[in-house]
Amino acid sequence: MPFNELGLSDKVLSAVADAGYTEPTPIQAQAIPHVLARRDVLGLAQTGTGKTAAFTLPMLTLLEQGRARARMPRTLILEPTRELAAQVEENFVKYGKNHKLNVALLIGGVSFGDQDAKLLRGVDVLIATPGRLLDHVERGRLLLSGIEILVIDEADRMLDMGFIPDIERVCKLVPFTRQTLFFSATMPPEIQRLVSQFLSNPVQIEASRPSSTASTITQLLVASGKEDYEKRETLRTLINGSENLQNGIIFCNRKRDVAVVHKSLQRHGFKVVALHGDMDQRSRMQALDAFRTGEANLLVASDVAARGLDIPAVSHVFNYDTPHHAEDYVHRIGRTGRAGRAGVAYTIVTPSDSKSLAAIEKLIGRAIDWKEGSSLDTLPASEPRSRGGRDKEKRGGREERRGARPARRRDGAERVAVVDEPEEAVVAAPAAVPAAKPARRRKDAEPSQGTTANPRERKEKAPPAPPRAPVTPLTHRRSERAPVDEPADTSHLPAFLLRPVKIKAG
Ligand code: ADP
Ligand code: MG
Repeated sequence: MPFNELGLSDKVLSAVADAGYTEPTPIQAQAIPHVLARRDVLGLAQTGTGKTAAFTLPMLTLLEQGRARARMPRTLILEPTRELAAQVEENFVKYGKNHKLNVALLIGGVSFGDQDAKLLRGVDVLIATPGRLLDHVERGRLLLSGIEILVIDEADRMLDMGFIPDIERVCKLVPFTRQTLFFSATMPPEIQRLVSQFLSNPVQIEASRPSSTASTITQLLVASGKEDYEKRETLRTLINGSENLQNGIIFCNRKRDVAVVHKSLQRHGFKVVALHGDMDQRSRMQALDAFRTGEANLLVASDVAARGLDIPAVSHVFNYDTPHHAEDYVHRIGRTGRAGRAGVAYTIVTPSDSKSLAAIEKLIGRAIDWKEGSSLDTLPASEPRSRGGRDKEKRGGREERRGARPARRRDGAERVAVVDEPEEAVVAAPAAVPAAKPARRRKDAEPSQGTTANPRERKEKAPPAPPRAPVTPLTHRRSERAPVDEPADTSHLPAFLLRPVKIKAG
């Protein structure tokens, strides 16, 4: 079905033609007529299926009637991260080039004053991350009582990031009669609850079974020893052996590993950039640009940092870590095999990943093949070197006893210890207070938002966090650089732990 049979306005159709789109994607073809008919829509479709245009195009058409008033936006789009919000804005600019609409972005990391000035002028489309939005509302700078259309995008990611209470609040602040468009790749129970509470008789559209993975993706498992250096070596072998590699995203479970893997690949001469929650907005955008233009053909990222980013035509996904949350697997490999293109997704699996792997296979409803010749059973035993490391750490217990900060392990033990920590929090508070951290709650979208906007605090009323340990001990500078294939990243260890230790026999 061509775009011009969906009921879109001429202005929109002409912009779509200029963008080079010839046919709507299935979710677009199904959703657009209902959005234009002012129905609530629940859109379930995996990443990369074109959900953004499924709501931006009909919204532009609907917005041609009427005008915005100061501080009272007409439509509101909620996105879990700044990058996604910025991408949606780009979509409005691209498809709205024949319109004279005011589009404003309310995201962390951008000056409050500039955003406020825009709101005062009146906006037709407000794109926001939940925390920053509520900041503006709480300061009385923004009224949500004029909202005609509310879009909740990437709802499952909102859930992961702890934004559900914020979303509930926003839903109660917008008029009861608004139209709601709700998009998600997966449909966990919490999301289901939100939908039944805040959508009114929605049309449900499924572009493909939720949590299924695109059939154009070749998925393969690769066995590896569990030590970091072994995994990095496995990764390099995979990259080098990938004949049709045009560009690839390498996913790590933890932010710390993003930095380590990035550095390591750089040292090995790969053209690689990284994306994680600690980077400021500018460096993130720079990294993304380098990846989009092909200046770098590899991107190392954490789940939160990469969720939903519009990076077309990724040929390969490498899961440096088997994801702990099965749904992350679906999102990660959704970065490839887009728009019918073939893609390859490799997942590095160590002997301690069997539970995570089982959960993934259960979610996607099938077993994933092992790469030819690869198997956990035939793995060579880990080198004794790692055991030495463990001993060394035991001897470094002095710090621990002083209660300063436990030495972080560089062996598999750490993996177990931090498995359930929110990935983005790991570096900021190294191993200091694992017990205080809720599972499955991450936050990197809006580091600069006010305290009241912190979903974790709102929801949990957690006791005040203990003082955070510094990222790097003051006495220790990042070592100038160990040879490339050392068992690795030692930068997190206090210097005395790195001194050779004589172990007495017996
Ligand atoms: P989702 O939100 O479902 O993850 P996006 O809206 O980000 O997906 O779109 C994914 C990619 O598909 C983007 O690069 C977008 O430009 C492209 N795209 C969207 N609609 C079409 C279309 N009708 N034809 C071709 N490409 C499209
Ligand atoms: Mg999207």
